[in-house]
Amino acid sequence: MNYIPKRVYFEKRALEYPLGEKLYNLFNKKENVEIKILKSNRVTSIPGKTPQEAYREGKNTLVVRVRKKQEFQTCKPSAHYQLPLVSGCAGKCEYCYLNTRFGNKPYTTIYANINEILEKAKDYIEERKPDITYFEAAATSDPIPFEEYTGSLAETIKFFGREELGRLRFVTKFHQVDNLLGIDHKGHTTIRFSINSEKVIKEYEHGTSPLEKRIEASKKIFDHGYHLGFIIAPIIRYDGWKEDYLNMLKALKNSLGKDIDREIRFEVISHRFTSSAKKRILEVFPKTKLPMDEEERKFKYGQFGYGKYVYKKEDLEEIKEFFNDNINSLFKKSTIDYII
Ligand code: SF4
Repeated sequence: MNYIPKRVYFEKRALEYPLGEKLYNLFNKKENVEIKILKSNRVTSIPGKTPQEAYREGKNTLVVRVRKKQEFQTCKPSAHYQLPLVSGCAGKCEYCYLNTRFGNKPYTTIYANINEILEKAKDYIEERKPDITYFEAAATSDPIPFEEYTGSLAETIKFFGREELGRLRFVTKFHQVDNLLGIDHKGHTTIRFSINSEKVIKEYEHGTSPLEKRIEASKKIFDHGYHLGFIIAPIIRYDGWKEDYLNMLKALKNSLGKDIDREIRFEVISHRFTSSAKKRILEVFPKTKLPMDEEERKFKYGQFGYGKYVYKKEDLEEIKEFFNDNINSLFKKSTIDYII
């Protein structure tokens, strides 16, 4: 099902932009969507007393704003800059890396001043000439669930199609890609799908698209000439994990066809967690079955003083061997960027 918010708040200035006005008119017509013009910058009226309610209601809220800050954040190592179209996500994945970033009411912000944002991207491209500049549009979001309302990604893909030295990439767990088909993208956009075993998706990736739909969407994207990639993450070990992940890879292969004549890239990331992420997950999903037993993991010190719990060496080796062997044998033209 497509995402429908319960409430949409507008910063007053956002209504001066065509996208802000379009979203206002669109949601104003919908029944059961509360519309409000914000008096200040702060978003204070999202309900929710318990952590679970607060989380749910945050996910049901959109805030349409003008992005004031001119500079883009860097996005190493996958791109040079983050491209801020949307911040937040409609999905409710238990392990999500955003869970500790957006406070206890994780609403989604949509930026109305898309043309100004793209102009800024152009400045960065000019600055780095003659080198190519890469932008990541999903650094703090999954932009696909909002695309049917905003059309921002389609605009952005067209923009990059016109930019000889600009490249766009983003990743999604959603399947609603139809309005991205038929765009003259000139091969300047890479779309990656985040996939997992059916069991992991059903158990932990609430509110996202089923595996089958993501695979179907990836085929459409591939057939329309986009560069295609897959992030398989997080790999979770459980009884029968190998069989399930092999079925996932085979389903992907069957859908893409026997004679894949273009490169497909893979990134594979094993499950890991920090103590603060575990605390937050247990607050929001008290009945979670996510495997987060520190005893079964190895503690790995991080760069900034905090560390994470990763799979033990032998478990990780087994994951690496499994994905290396199976991706290479099923997808001859593939490149595995990394398995960690
Ligand atoms: Fe987080 Fe991605 Fe799930 Fe959205 S789809 S909740 S960004 S992991």
